[in-house]
Amino acid sequence: MVMTKALTFLARRFVAGQTAEEAIEAIRRLNKQGLKATLDFLGEEVETEEQAGAATKEISRLFELIHRAKVDSNVSIKLSQMGLGIDPSMARRNLEKVLDGAAAHGNFVRIDMEGSKHTQKTLDLFYAAFEKRKNVGIVIQSYLRRSLADVEEICKRGAGVRLCKGAYKEPKEIAFPKKEEVNESYDRLTEILLEKGARTGLATHDDARIEFAQKAARRLGRKLDSFEIQMLYGLRKKRWAELVRQGHAVRIYVPYGTHWMPYYFRRLRERKENVLFVLKNL
Ligand SMILES: Cc1cc2nc3c(=O)[nH]c(=O)nc-3n(C[C@H](O)[C@H](O)[C@H](O)COP(=O)(O)OP(=O)(O)OC[C@H]3O[C@@H](n4cnc5c(N)ncnc54)[C@H](O)[C@@H]3O)c2cc1C
Repeated sequence: MVMTKALTFLARRFVAGQTAEEAIEAIRRLNKQGLKATLDFLGEEVETEEQAGAATKEISRLFELIHRAKVDSNVSIKLSQMGLGIDPSMARRNLEKVLDGAAAHGNFVRIDMEGSKHTQKTLDLFYAAFEKRKNVGIVIQSYLRRSLADVEEICKRGAGVRLCKGAYKEPKEIAFPKKEEVNESYDRLTEILLEKGARTGLATHDDARIEFAQKAARRLGRKLDSFEIQMLYGLRKKRWAELVRQGHAVRIYVPYGTHWMPYYFRRLRERKENVLFVLKNL
């Protein structure tokens, strides 16, 4: 019990609250600093149709909430939270409901990319959804060897990408094992997206990647606010403000909910300073 309470306290660094209403207040504060947001209802890998339905219902009500609160935010989702691991056609139906909700309020949905067992199925559902409506975008992970081909295909279809390095443990057959290779891939994909992509979001806390993007944007004649730099709630707050001052469009990923454990442990695995933060506070 004490341990659970301690962990809940610590997770608050990365999680904006237990309810959507709390997260919306956090977004209001971000908006006041010139930052956009993407709201994420925490949860993944559900095991029953009921759980997938409940998550879909919760996510579908976010667009009305965002609209009423007049905050600048779109919504990020994970298809495994909507039943992808149980039955892709269930996830497709749930995705359509969510996209209907978004469209009713002129909002946008970003489909997060999960572990590699879901990559192709996620892309298939995304492509099918994008054919019907344009208020949906996808995430690509630079650590995957396949991502160059995926980015080319997505650009050809005119859809938008959020580029990240990738947060799941993957075998070296499908993912670059070395950090330098992941970074090299990130820069290469950044360049392609800035040249050919629609609605590009560069999700990284890595200054070297941001600097590369700034130089590429200059070379390609792109304005700094014509693409987004995206960061996670609780990480590098001072940097957000600096980037806004430089003229960047900056979007913060704002998770909320009680199912924060997997998200939280991905953050700890990424960076030893995050673990030190936990130890210091414990
Ligand atoms: C908005 C957003 C959405 C995401 N969506 C997905 C998704 O859908 N799927 C997925 O697999 N992953 C996602 N991720 C996670 C992502 O894949 C990475 O795991 C995570 O962002 C860490 O990689 P990084 O690019 O930030 O840099 P890292 O490789 O972790 O760090 C590189 C360098 O950045 C600097 N740095 C990093 N963090 C800090 C810090 N806190 N303070 C100071 N300097 C720091 C340091 O110099 C560090 O050496 C997302 C990340 C973001 C920001």
